[in-house]
Amino acid sequence: MIDIRLEGMVRQQEGPERVHDLIVVGAGPAGLTAGLYAARARMDVLAIEAQSPGGELLNTDLIEDYPGFQSISGPELAERMFRHAQLFGLKVVMDSVEEIANEGLVKVVRTAGGLYRAYAVIVTAGGQPKKLGVPGEEELRGKGVSYCAVCDGAFFNDRILAVVGGGDSAFQEALFLTRYARKIYLIHRRDTFRAQPILQERVLGHPKIEVMTSAQVREIVGAERVESVIYEKDGRRQDLPVDGVFIFIGFQPNSNLFREHVEHDEGGYLITDSQMQTSIPGIFAAGDVRAQLARQITTAVGDATTAAIAAERYVESIKSRVGQYL
Ligand code: NAP
Repeated sequence: MIDIRLEGMVRQQEGPERVHDLIVVGAGPAGLTAGLYAARARMDVLAIEAQSPGGELLNTDLIEDYPGFQSISGPELAERMFRHAQLFGLKVVMDSVEEIANEGLVKVVRTAGGLYRAYAVIVTAGGQPKKLGVPGEEELRGKGVSYCAVCDGAFFNDRILAVVGGGDSAFQEALFLTRYARKIYLIHRRDTFRAQPILQERVLGHPKIEVMTSAQVREIVGAERVESVIYEKDGRRQDLPVDGVFIFIGFQPNSNLFREHVEHDEGGYLITDSQMQTSIPGIFAAGDVRAQLARQITTAVGDATTAAIAAERYVESIKSRVGQYL
């Protein structure tokens, strides 16, 4: 993952008695938006992020569907969102969240570095790229197998690549990789695509990209580095020599952070109500970790806005209840 300056992220130890209003888990577009709204509403809010702020933006080359920005690079938009939230007082702590639990009216967020408490939590933890699960994939990861074109594309100047997947990510990243590669085989398991029509037009008309449909990757082969992919089409296994394989077959949400059961769908995405509240009162979710039709930057920031406003109301109600017992 690209490091967009860590300057401004903090490391923080705090006493067990400190209870924040809100903790935001993750600092991608959803986390930074929730943090911005909460900080502007003068809530005592912390965001906790294990890597650099920006989430999936850091793995995205060009963004053309975020209103107001005709075309902006993912890392630049990430940096702008981070600086904007910081300007209104959001603190982003660099730490890795391991467990979120309910303790009475307070939520406890256990991290690799310590414990944080808050009246409410917004989970914007995103997810991991899905794996094909074929022989050679794990062994050759970093040796020609990649899940991030922005990070690794430049290593494949004038090389031959396979891109696996039929969604927006595979199409968009294949187009990005044409800057470097001599030839790209886009391998998709069906003969129709999920990718947006505008991306399909660009990919299907690109002289460097050859689209192979109804083809399933069965193995990635190589001694030291990737040498070929074995795919199956029409019941026949075929060997396709390539120098690298970029896999974009979807996302596995980071939703296994809870001590208690929290409702999720069959893909592990967190189910929320219209206020972005999960089945645990006071725990909200937004962004790629949430079950929804679209996983776009626009939907992530919209849902995070709702989550922050709902969390603010929730915290006010909890504080007034806590106040009655003081
Ligand atoms: P996606 O839309 O879920 O597409 C995943 C693709 O991988 C599908 O074509 C799927 O095939 C294929 N696939 C899944 N498992 C596979 C397997 N085991 N073997 C072979 N192929 C497999 O995922 P995504 O492209 O990562 O996009 C995720 C979300 O982000 C989407 O909502 C997308 O719209 C959004 N996104 C938007 C943009 C943008 O520019 N606006 C850019 C990137 C991503 P099937 O079609 O056969 O299921």
